[in-house]
Amino acid sequence: MVKTSHDVLRFIKDENIELVDLKFCDLYGTWQHLTVCSELIEEDSFTSGIAFDGSSIRGWKAINESDMVMIPDPGTSWIDPFYRHKTLSLICSINDPRSNKPYDRCPRSLAKRALEYLNFTGLADTAYFGPEPEFFLFDDVRYSSSNSTTFYSVDAVEGGWNTGRIEEGGNLANKVLLKQGYFPVAPNDTLQDIRSEMLLTLGSLGVPIEKHHHEVATAQHELGIKFAELIAAADNVMIYKYVVRNIAKKYKKTATFMPKPIVSDNGSGMHVHQSLWKLGQPLFFGEGTYANLSKTALWYIGGLLKHAPSFAAFTNCTTNSYKRLVPGFEAPINLVYSQGNRSAAVRIPLTGLNPKAKRLEFRSGDALANPYIGFSAMMMAGLDGIKKQIDPGSSFDSDLFDSKCSDNVPTLPASLDASLEALSKDNDYLLENGVFSKDFIENWISLKYNEVQELRQRTHPYEFTLYYDA
Ligand code: GLU
Ligand code: MG
Ligand code: MG
Repeated sequence: MVKTSHDVLRFIKDENIELVDLKFCDLYGTWQHLTVCSELIEEDSFTSGIAFDGSSIRGWKAINESDMVMIPDPGTSWIDPFYRHKTLSLICSINDPRSNKPYDRCPRSLAKRALEYLNFTGLADTAYFGPEPEFFLFDDVRYSSSNSTTFYSVDAVEGGWNTGRIEEGGNLANKVLLKQGYFPVAPNDTLQDIRSEMLLTLGSLGVPIEKHHHEVATAQHELGIKFAELIAAADNVMIYKYVVRNIAKKYKKTATFMPKPIVSDNGSGMHVHQSLWKLGQPLFFGEGTYANLSKTALWYIGGLLKHAPSFAAFTNCTTNSYKRLVPGFEAPINLVYSQGNRSAAVRIPLTGLNPKAKRLEFRSGDALANPYIGFSAMMMAGLDGIKKQIDPGSSFDSDLFDSKCSDNVPTLPASLDASLEALSKDNDYLLENGVFSKDFIENWISLKYNEVQELRQRTHPYEFTLYYDA
């Protein structure tokens, strides 16, 4: 496994690598990249960086101060499997050349500051994150024949197998019915081989892989990867999406991580398992308590539940995110914790008496979250909970999708604008030690509020159903 800058330079030489692809994550959670000739990568590229023009990257620098610098992380190198020419890929963070410091709006640098803060508090030294991104695979309409056009964004036919697909005819055999995708074998599951290729490719790039399966909704899938330390876990999410999208394309399909592409079926979440450790010891286990949770774990949960309406602006950062957060689709909106109960925002998986496996799962977020920002925001909320010893109240073990049970239970905001409003009111916990800056939060609110406005100003297809003939 390549680790140091020296190792990378030697690998480039030994393997006659001609090209190096420098990838970095923008604010929106999308990878951007620049390919350079390998001679340009030298020892000091890993400290002084490689200059580029950042003025056209959405949400970043103004045109009059556009120069930026990429700092490659030598621990993140792999041969990019999707390029014809042998190319070494490196994940980068961004520095501002004026100050020679990490750029304030670089998500990966923000995550580094969050970890520095974790160490500064002395509460823990390691934060593990186990993300579970879900996604849909649809036919790429550019390649579909006219009698099997796929158009999934409409409402599914009530009670039927259909997901809005204009079918070529036929019967109900070998179909995945609404909410019944978890998880019959072939021939109903048609994408086994594609998922296997995705998972094994991820593994070959150094992402620790575990499993893959069809998910509950029609055409919905999940690959299981192991937990890792915060930044590595966020890097793994980026690699996951890259591999899923590129392999989907190879098979004339498209992958989407948008949270709610089909109205009547489950949406896609990104549950995130979390735990803190100090000096090699897990901090979330407490034998004999509710779900064997330590006080530290309970306070962490207290912080998560308290600040969830505010950090939802990062973990559920699109207008579409809130279409997933409705009762009945395994996407929790209720801000409570529970052992085993999948309808609570925080679930404590049953892990027996093994202290090392003790963790919590935050289930509300989705995979359009920028993982560096989302994980950091959740950890900052949890740390605030520990510092202030925030009591999460009692656990909630009944089914929260049952409306009788969920009365008086606090919920997440119902829309992106409501989350942005919550973020603008509650952000002190993010500003600790400059992990997030005021500028970062204000810029985020303004960029995301634009999306709210763009949508608000557009006529929605469903308005035709409601009003066209009214
Ligand atoms: N797809 C569900 C969600 O929106 C989760 C299903 C699961 O438990 O994995 O969160
Ligand atoms: Mg799942
Ligand atoms: Mg889960």
